[in-house]
Amino acid sequence: MIRKNRNSKLWRIALCSAAAALAWIYAMPPATGNTESAAKGAGLQVYFVDVEGGQSTLFVTPKGQSLLVDTGWAGFDGRDAGRIVAAAKDAGISKLDYVLLTHYHGDHSGGLPQLAERIPIGTVIDHGENAPAPEEGTEPIYQAYMAVVASGKVKRLSPKPGDKLPIPELDPTVVSAAGQVIDHALPGGGQPNPACEGANLAPDDQVENPRSLGIRMVFGKLRILDLGDLTVDKEALLMCPANKLGHVEILVVSHHGTYTSSSSALVHAIAPRVAVMDNGGKKGGTPNVWQTVKSSPGLEDLWQLHYSVEGGKEHNVPDSFIANVDEIGDAASYFKLTADSDGSFTVVNSRNKYQKVYRAR
Ligand SMILES: [Zn+2]
Repeated sequence: MIRKNRNSKLWRIALCSAAAALAWIYAMPPATGNTESAAKGAGLQVYFVDVEGGQSTLFVTPKGQSLLVDTGWAGFDGRDAGRIVAAAKDAGISKLDYVLLTHYHGDHSGGLPQLAERIPIGTVIDHGENAPAPEEGTEPIYQAYMAVVASGKVKRLSPKPGDKLPIPELDPTVVSAAGQVIDHALPGGGQPNPACEGANLAPDDQVENPRSLGIRMVFGKLRILDLGDLTVDKEALLMCPANKLGHVEILVVSHHGTYTSSSSALVHAIAPRVAVMDNGGKKGGTPNVWQTVKSSPGLEDLWQLHYSVEGGKEHNVPDSFIANVDEIGDAASYFKLTADSDGSFTVVNSRNKYQKVYRAR
């Protein structure tokens, strides 16, 4: 009996020691450090935030530098600012290093004051003064932005076409600003552009969209283009007769897929693998732009932030590739793109968790 008791006691000690050892192993940090941070730090993160037919796209680099392109709308109790802050939190950042305002329309710059109240912002980048002839309705938006600058909360930077933005991991080059475009081809560009023939390049009569501050970014082997709401006449200056932009892998479809942007001279020549359209249910997403993007050579997928009512059955992508499928509603579903410097990337639809991996080429 004594011996049996002694044996069971030894077993108990052995079991306890094994359990303690296992607990210690599990408590140990993995050799690579915090796995979540390691995963988050592994690549570029891009959030296509739903601001109901405006733009707001958040880029967070592996080293944690951030660039937000546009802020969505003002009003709605800070709806868009809240969605942007949620994306920033998901990306693991508590400050926006750079906020780029493509132009002074309400769906792009309107949300800045509310955003600045909710999260620290380093520098705001814009296309310059709201001049010489401010478009009707833009002055209050511009002045609200100027008030944020005057408060000392943010710095201001107004670059010119050809300038680089100080975000080394994204290497952004300004390709358009204040109605001007680059006067030279970017590395990888300069080839004759057959898509200019027959393209609709009629000038647009609005003031502010053609002034959009557009950038081309490079992350490893990945090139990303975001031209704000730049119009077809400015696209012609960038793309005809020679393609100054070269190819890109990821295109943020200009002007939410409205017909005044996205000529075939632009889209078919840059030939993106993936296009993301930040349309609303009843804003942008026009059938002719949808068709131009879908027929672009080499396009693998178009992703839409909303089902386009105007597009109907024929001009919408399958539901899996749409973040918000209901005609009305405020679901705020978004896309998250993560990219590796080897050129591979993944897009995830937050609504249904549908994801697609795009392998490096
Ligand atoms: Zn817009």
